[in-house]
Amino acid sequence: VRGLASYDTVVIGGGPGGYVAAIKASQLGQKTACIEKRGALGGTCLNVGCIPSKAMLNNSHIYHQTLHDIKARGIDVDGVSLNLPNMLKAKDTSVTGLTKGVEGLFKKYKVDYIKGTGSFVSANKLKVDLLEGGEEQIEAKNVIIATGSDAMAFPGVPFDEERIVSSTGALSLQEVPKKLTVIGGGVIGLELGSVWSRLGAEVTVVEFMSGIGGVGIDEEIAKSFQKILTKQGFKFKLNTKVTSLKREGDVVTIEVEGAKDGKKETLTSDVVLVAIGRRPYTDGLNLEAIGVEKDKKGRIVIDNQFNTSAPGVKCIGDVTFGPMLAHKAEDEGIAAAEFIQTGHGHVNYDAIPSVIYTHPEVAWVGKTEQELKAANVEYKIGKYPFLANSRAKTNNDQEGSVKILVEKETDKILGAHIIGPNAGEMIAEATLAVEYSASAEDVARTCHAHPTLSEAFKEAAMASYDKPVNF
Ligand code: FAD
Ligand code: NAD
Repeated sequence: VRGLASYDTVVIGGGPGGYVAAIKASQLGQKTACIEKRGALGGTCLNVGCIPSKAMLNNSHIYHQTLHDIKARGIDVDGVSLNLPNMLKAKDTSVTGLTKGVEGLFKKYKVDYIKGTGSFVSANKLKVDLLEGGEEQIEAKNVIIATGSDAMAFPGVPFDEERIVSSTGALSLQEVPKKLTVIGGGVIGLELGSVWSRLGAEVTVVEFMSGIGGVGIDEEIAKSFQKILTKQGFKFKLNTKVTSLKREGDVVTIEVEGAKDGKKETLTSDVVLVAIGRRPYTDGLNLEAIGVEKDKKGRIVIDNQFNTSAPGVKCIGDVTFGPMLAHKAEDEGIAAAEFIQTGHGHVNYDAIPSVIYTHPEVAWVGKTEQELKAANVEYKIGKYPFLANSRAKTNNDQEGSVKILVEKETDKILGAHIIGPNAGEMIAEATLAVEYSASAEDVARTCHAHPTLSEAFKEAAMASYDKPVNF
């Protein structure tokens, strides 16, 4: 056991929640350490989540476009072939570039990076089992738990990460499966399903619910999205539950059953991606030592200032309430550090954007139509298709539309739902509008550069109270 170091703030977990909290705490003058056990900073997001998946999405899109689309653009190429090992290498390079970057930021902002597994001895004392061997105890006036989440396996069937894979295995398949079955038509299933579909796999998505896209998607958008993916070659089995999953040699057999009609069917597949959600990760923290409360889903319970039930212990990110998104975790990290320093911090849970990085992308912020109906809010809709947007047409990338939901009485923008090229970038404008309580007319009277995709957002706003001009 090494000597007892003492800190103002110790963050457990170096993901987007934890590393951002640590940097902000140190910037605010707190003596700060961050404990991370995976041997690299950046958490799920940088190592096995957002970043490697976007690298594979981007490069598989370029490959697919090169095969199927660029001839019509006046570019002739011969002998296009996939070099999967190199595509995986490019992904790994993007990951290490960013994780090393966070290490650099820790040095720059004087955050002590402790490599090991942290656990509670008491609310202000932690033990770290060091990766290099041995252990260290540290004291902290404040602790921020940011231990994230982990993929849920199909009940009774652990991941072998070869044939029955989580997102982590699906980001490193060594060959393109002939048949890939995805259990769960949420964000992970559709993004990683897209990657392997573009690289040549026959992809079938089995989804328990009646629509795709996961929690929080607008139902109308989900239907258009499903049509677009079906055109791209996806097969969907909705309202269908998986009853058993078994690997025998190189074949995985999946028994499914209609959730409504009970109809049974057997599917076979080379690889099955189980993407049925993630669970909060608190293994090994020894929370019992400090009596931290968890809810039924295993999430650490916090108040509106990120305080757990243990004094001086805060919690942020995937391991607590709210959407499991990197930018949500980051914003909470900043707010938690600010609460420690100043007693104030801000996260607006009504204005957190969601993006599915398929092609076209799907992005939304604020309320869905079904939510407004359920809450009996009177609203107007402004819609604008990308086929009437000059830039989308010029780029020959005009699938999708913008849909804006506006409060009838006040003209306030309550929600925005976009399917289209670069929807993930465009949603920033909608998020700002929701954050600032903009009216649709505020947006429509804001000058937007021409020719840009964002003009579709302006025209949708215009369409909600007047007529669009170009459609
Ligand atoms: P995590 O990133 O999970 O980090 C927690 C860290 O804590 C881990 O590194 C873990 O090793 C460490 N840890 C745990 N216990 C201990 C301990 N006792 N001691 C020390 N260290 C510990 N979100 C988006 O917003 N956009 C995306 O495009 C996106 N794509 C994704 C794609 C995939 C395939 C996956 C799986 C997720 C994706 N997400 C995306 C979700 C995003 O990764 C998470 O929301 C985000 O990483 C949560 O951040 P966090 O800091 O709360 O936890
Ligand atoms: P998800 O909650 O988005 O989707 C899971 C889907 O699986 C749901 O549609 C659910 O109905 C279905 N499902 C659950 N059990 C099932 C079963 N037994 N049979 C068939 N279907 C079943 O979860 P995910 O796709 O695993 O992603 C996990 C988390 O990671 C999400 O919260 C997401 O926010 C985050 N993530 C975000 C991004 C992004 O922001 N682009 C990308 C990847 C992951």
